[in-house]
Amino acid sequence: MSSTSAPGPPAAPGAQSAGVPKAAARRLLIIGPQGAGKGTQAAILTSRLAIAMVSTGDLFRANVGGGTELGQLAKKYMDAGELVPDEVTIAMVSTRLDEPDAVPGFLLDGFPRNAAQAAALTELLAGRGQPLEAVLHLTLPDSRIVSRLSGRRVDTRTGRNYHLESDPPPAADVEAGFVVQRDDDRPAAIERRLQIFHSQTEPLIQLYADRDLLVTVDGRGAVSEVAERVRDALGG
Ligand code: AMP
Repeated sequence: MSSTSAPGPPAAPGAQSAGVPKAAARRLLIIGPQGAGKGTQAAILTSRLAIAMVSTGDLFRANVGGGTELGQLAKKYMDAGELVPDEVTIAMVSTRLDEPDAVPGFLLDGFPRNAAQAAALTELLAGRGQPLEAVLHLTLPDSRIVSRLSGRRVDTRTGRNYHLESDPPPAADVEAGFVVQRDDDRPAAIERRLQIFHSQTEPLIQLYADRDLLVTVDGRGAVSEVAERVRDALGG
């Protein structure tokens, strides 16, 4: 099984896993379309590497749930499937990376999502003398994304994701209102999020390929299969 056999346009020469010892990477980010399984794989990988998981979507959702000022601001963008303004997002990430659990390392999930955020991240990490060491690119065709996202349900208490078909939530938790559909997993918001991914986030993949940071993994299949591909691709 090849860990770099993802479908999609041909990568630039040397784009995938070239030369850099990715197994030692402790400062990483995961990039890919919504519904590719980034959050699930990020949780598995951060637990294996004992590094902090820094998900901007989770951070925003925690702020929305907690009714903070940041949450109130973010919610209207999130519900529409739009990006929260860059300066707000960048400041939130910078603060989060200062927390002690991020010192041994971190995996960013959902950030950066556009060129301005990528530039800000490079600058932020350069300022700390801690550049990124690997970028995990999880692929999934659009046709699969829509079915994954529309069937996704989340436990609002724990953030755990379910899928109505492949990983159904406990009926009692659904009835009690603990497990719900995210507002941004409804059709109009899904479409908008995918548009933003293709126009603003996807170009970053080439940027990281050019820096020899990119490791591409096919996101199709069961969670455990993809996790194994991730482990193989990172060499560890
Ligand atoms: P996610 O869980 O990563 O799909 O993020 C859910 C929503 O949070 C997105 O649709 C955006 O509204 C917002 N969000 C998450 N990450 C970012 C980011 N890096 N920049 C701007 N908005 C973001």
